[in-house]
Amino acid sequence: MGNDLDVVVIGAGFAGLYMIHRLRGLGIAVHGLEAADGVGGTWFWNRYPGARCDSESYYYCYAFSRELEQEWDWSERYPGQAEILSYLEHVADRFDLRRSISFSTTVVSASWDGDRWVVDTEDGARWTCRWLVTAVGCLSSANVPDIPGLASFAGTWHHTGQWPHEGVDVAGRRVGVVGTGSTGIQAIPVLAEAAGHLTVFQRTANFSIPARNAPLSPEEAAGYKADYAAIREVQQASTNGHPFVVSDVDTLALPDDERRALFERAWERGGLRFRAAVRDVLADPAVNEQASEFIRSKIRSTVTDPDVAEALTPRDHPFATKRPPIDTDYFETYNRPDVSLVDVRADPIAEITPGGVRLASGAEHPLDVLVFATGFDALSGPLLRLGLRGRDGLALADAWAEGAATYLGLGVAGFPNLFTITGPGSPSVLTNMPTSIEQHVDWIADVVAHLRAHDLDAEPTPEAQARWADHVREAADATLLPQAASSWYLGANVPGKPRVFLPYAGGFARYRGMCDAEAQAGYPGFALRARRQVA
Ligand code: FAD
Ligand code: NAP
Repeated sequence: MGNDLDVVVIGAGFAGLYMIHRLRGLGIAVHGLEAADGVGGTWFWNRYPGARCDSESYYYCYAFSRELEQEWDWSERYPGQAEILSYLEHVADRFDLRRSISFSTTVVSASWDGDRWVVDTEDGARWTCRWLVTAVGCLSSANVPDIPGLASFAGTWHHTGQWPHEGVDVAGRRVGVVGTGSTGIQAIPVLAEAAGHLTVFQRTANFSIPARNAPLSPEEAAGYKADYAAIREVQQASTNGHPFVVSDVDTLALPDDERRALFERAWERGGLRFRAAVRDVLADPAVNEQASEFIRSKIRSTVTDPDVAEALTPRDHPFATKRPPIDTDYFETYNRPDVSLVDVRADPIAEITPGGVRLASGAEHPLDVLVFATGFDALSGPLLRLGLRGRDGLALADAWAEGAATYLGLGVAGFPNLFTITGPGSPSVLTNMPTSIEQHVDWIADVVAHLRAHDLDAEPTPEAQARWADHVREAADATLLPQAASSWYLGANVPGKPRVFLPYAGGFARYRGMCDAEAQAGYPGFALRARRQVA
């Protein structure tokens, strides 16, 4: 195989693997470029203690192969990082995908030369292709805060999304964690078990629901396998790609004791499904406040020190307007004598010293290991890092100076023959992602087959892109989601990042219908040009 291809796919996580499989099935010459030295994406990189899925194992997996569905056995309700990585390695082997991927190959730039994409990698190689597909993930650009003095730290520090494969020895050591998002909330209880002392630096208190993880019994696993057709149907018709039907119970109409009992049942069942226990939790502030207050009451009754409980109680954003974490013994961990909570909203981190963290007040926290659970430059970040240049040398960074804009999250005006799996403006991170990924991959495989059959190039029209941007904004504004001012959904976690609501909040099933309609109508939102006319 030479370096000139029909399609180059960047990334070999859930998205890249399936994209390569689909395109190969169509007889299209495709090759994948992956920065890591193995497959798995998120599950290759995020090896921090406690890393685990929040989607349940029976549906955090591909749906495209009935055989794969039946032959893979999950061991727990929520699979851990190592198990998901094994699953993706199995997929790569089962479908013989590794021969179509160059590993340890980081794309540093990709330019449209008027006829093809020219893709350059860090090792000096060059690839050319007619269609470029990004499968770089929404949460793959680590966000390490720019805190003065970090380079002087005499201990070791790590971002959770770039965790060393050999692990980090925290036994008996003084460990600090910055961040209490989904990652911090998973890592903190596990780190507390091993560390000598754990200090949590919290800027924003977070809601969290107990995961209630447990081994998956053979009977449960067999039940899911027998039910897959129905499970997949519910997912396809859902708002979030999860196989839950959102309850139609109006909690505002319920007497207090019935409402409390309903929330208690949802709390006992645990997991992301808590959100689906009542209707309108993300639409009606009064309903949301009931759910929020229920969780606050659980924090108060779990954490024994009332001051610590209050510091852990979220009051600045409605429940689930930031991605709600699920946990195993998160709040309980603060009852340990060897765990301290530091409120860095009240007393911000001023600098990192050789010995630890110094706060604005001058208070010092001596540390041996510092863990940044500080999240990602989400959705647009991994795409901007590709150094993309479209027609007439247009840089993506310039095209997106005011914020990421796409058509359907699938392509960008000015960037011919570029397709973006789970790009900004698609449901992506608001859904169970394998479901959204498969929908995007199938759509992209179809459009590439269509363009090849008719010898066309395609890019979104500026008009279609502008209409879509309006719709993405309206869909977000119809919910409470934009009320979380510091949310990464808005880009607010990265200094200087334009504030644009990034994912599409109109629901997975509705979105899928719009993508299908676009294809059925012959791609009216795209300028389709016969090959020779493209400049
Ligand atoms: P990724 O898995 O992020 O893969 C992208 C790949 O692209 C990476 O391997 C990366 O190395 C590669 N890449 C990026 N840039 C370049 C470049 N310039 N050159 C070469 N290669 C490049 N989603 C859920 O639905 N449910 C969950 O419970 C859930 N849990 C999560 C837990 C964690 C800790 C994290 C971080 C995310 C979680 N997610 C979850 C989201 C998760 O990212 C997706 O579910 C899914 O794994 C994304 O797959 P992907 O292939 O799109 O992207
Ligand atoms: P995150 O949600 O962005 O949380 C980052 C945390 O770090 C926040 O508490 C943030 O505080 C804090 N922070 C950032 N910069 C800081 C600074 N300079 N000083 C002090 N605190 C700082 O990131 P994440 O927890 O890695 O999660 C990102 C997403 O990945 C999740 O929302 C989810 O989609 C996915 N994820 C999923 C799972 C799962 O499903 N199992 C697990 C992990 C991650 P503020 O809130 O004040 O900004």
